Amino acid sequence: MYGSIQSHKHACERIDGTVAGIGTMVLDGMLNTICQRRSPSLELLTCLSVRSAVPAQCGFAGRTVLNILHVAVVVGASGLCAASPLLAEGVGVAPTVFRATQGEIVEIVLSVSDRSTTVTGTWRGTNVPFFSLSDSTTMVGLVGADLASKLGKDALNVTMTSPQGTETRRFFIEVVDASFPVQRLTLPKNMVDLDVATLKRVRKEAKHLRSIFAHTRVPRAWTDSFVAPLDGKISGAFGRRRFINGQKKNPHTGEDISAPQGAQVQASNRGIVRLATEQFFSGKSILIDHGLGLFTMYFHLSEMLVNEGDTVDRGAVIGLVGSTGRATGPHLHWGARLNNARVDPYELIRMNVGSSRTNVRAQ
Ligand SMILES: [Zn+2]
Repeated sequence: MYGSIQSHKHACERIDGTVAGIGTMVLDGMLNTICQRRSPSLELLTCLSVRSAVPAQCGFAGRTVLNILHVAVVVGASGLCAASPLLAEGVGVAPTVFRATQGEIVEIVLSVSDRSTTVTGTWRGTNVPFFSLSDSTTMVGLVGADLASKLGKDALNVTMTSPQGTETRRFFIEVVDASFPVQRLTLPKNMVDLDVATLKRVRKEAKHLRSIFAHTRVPRAWTDSFVAPLDGKISGAFGRRRFINGQKKNPHTGEDISAPQGAQVQASNRGIVRLATEQFFSGKSILIDHGLGLFTMYFHLSEMLVNEGDTVDRGAVIGLVGSTGRATGPHLHWGARLNNARVDPYELIRMNVGSSRTNVRAQ
């Protein structure tokens, strides 16, 4: 099916033969683009974005009603097309289904020819914010599939508005079971069976976090790709369903990276520090707001080197590895939230979110 990718690598073109913008933007070290002209009379283009070394991706066509050239969708590393819309007859008309495993991010890239076009989306009652890259004609939306997201297929409605009018396109995102493994831990009783005062504290801390996640304070703060907060052995613990001292507890919402006590932890991207405090479970904790509902978290630190309200750049040292809070040894718990979906933070790196398809700097 994908055997002819190389020979079609530069085949993304408009009906009139000019090269489509998205073709050059998608085409970089990580992504290739294969396109097929389906029906010249309908001015349809189909476009399949393929990450090299990743088995399958998704693509579909957009009509030129609003001079929208086409839409390309890339899903997470393990994502597969639920169907083969690219090859189906009537492509661009039939509903198109994209698949995301729990904890993954779906990235939607639209190329619009009118710079004044605004794009909004909704999926399962949650807004999907779109942002433009610096060329002003590439719009990117991010959808997170929570690690415990309900399985199944729901509509993603994308509304594009320009001076010529409004068009809504309906697509579907299907969430697939990640089958996260079960983890059984034994911890000191006082860290599991909480007394009344501790329970009160934990609830207050959770409420505060929820209020932060609900109110992103900045527009998109990042312009470069995300980086890992430090080098270290990744435990693969994201999403694990935990039983602590035999009791069913919340799943593990981030990834644990083992590193020596005192190792430097860097901000995985630019943003504003919204939390820098000590909490019962997460110990000394830093939370960075990257804008557009995207947050990263750094837990169990021995030292916090930034304050709430600080703006930090990508790679800035924000703290040191420790084992504060409920931790069995020095490690960093790195977490990510995308519009309240608890996603695997390494998705931000794997997806090269919001920066991979362009060589130009974002706004
Ligand atoms: Zn952890």
